[in-house]
Amino acid sequence: MIYLDYQATTPLAPEVAAAMQPWIEEKFANPHSPSRWGSEAAAAIEVARGQVERAIGLNGGSLAFTGSATEALNWALKGTMERVQGRKRIVTVATEHAAVLDTCEWLEARGHDVTRLPLKPDGLVDLDAAKAALDDNVAIVAVMLVNNEIGVIQPVGEIARLAHDVGALMLCDAVQGLGRVEIPDGPDLVAVSAHKIHGPKAIGALWMRKGAEPPPLIHGGGQEQGMRSGTLSPALCVGFGAAAKLASERRLQDEDHVKRLHEAARAILGPTWTVNGSTDHRYPGNLNIRREGLDASRLIADFRDVAFSLGSACASGSGRPSHVLRALGLSDREARSSIRLGFGRYTAAEELADALTRIDAAARAQQDMAA
Ligand code: PLP
Repeated sequence: MIYLDYQATTPLAPEVAAAMQPWIEEKFANPHSPSRWGSEAAAAIEVARGQVERAIGLNGGSLAFTGSATEALNWALKGTMERVQGRKRIVTVATEHAAVLDTCEWLEARGHDVTRLPLKPDGLVDLDAAKAALDDNVAIVAVMLVNNEIGVIQPVGEIARLAHDVGALMLCDAVQGLGRVEIPDGPDLVAVSAHKIHGPKAIGALWMRKGAEPPPLIHGGGQEQGMRSGTLSPALCVGFGAAAKLASERRLQDEDHVKRLHEAARAILGPTWTVNGSTDHRYPGNLNIRREGLDASRLIADFRDVAFSLGSACASGSGRPSHVLRALGLSDREARSSIRLGFGRYTAAEELADALTRIDAAARAQQDMAA
């Protein structure tokens, strides 16, 4: 099995599994109980919190663990719209993750106005259009750092400045960027997820600049300083912390490895494949490419031993062409002839070359059959 779907999720790092092990097997105490065992678990969670905060790398805020980045994004958007009275608008981008777009739609149905910014053909936000869309009725601007489908890196720092100029907050979905691309100074709220950085699934976090904290979304036992109730899992928190620490320590090594894989992949695939989205402002561990006339769904179904995808894992089952590729201006036909390849820390150059050579040959064979 060759795994080329790193944007959907990443393999658990062995160091992370080892760090989690005692908290799964022996150390079962509730981290919120005052016993010695509870305090030990609470202390381990605080170490993990610091590790995730350092990987985010922003100052002047605090971090609350959540059940996922989806929860963090829901909390940030719904909470901010509740807190900031008198401002009714949200500004976002058509290529955001469903966790942002669907939450915006939910808010829209409850009386808020949502502006979805247009993109340039390379997938980057048009900053002039962003500036023109902002006014003092905007409560929050939500733009992701690295796109999960096309890997494009948005100018989040500049967008945050534009948001602040009109007194709005900036929310950044940094799920695909954490540990890989520097999060620029500027965002007031940042959502992250452990399973995209070789950590466990079902844990995310929301980093909040002081003064920008949204009111709670989940009510109950008052955990996380009353901001997010629910018993924390020491195993998941410790796993997230270990993954964040490892990503920070291995940043340059991982970056170098991924760049080399990217260059090798482009060389194997050649000019019959077109890259979707900017080739300059892009995280190199993502290669979203199309080939004239390709039936991408058939290609994926033909490869039982290579995992790659059409786009986001959430959209793949729907049969609809990707909203991200459509927002770039691709036709339905072009979107349906696009595949997403994702690789990273544990991808060997040989297995990538093997998979791509076979994918390229199968695509050619499809074309020959059609001719
Ligand atoms: N945002 C982006 C860009 C993602 O890629 C994902 C995961 O697919 C999410 C948000 C949601 O993260 P989670 O799986 O933690 O809910």
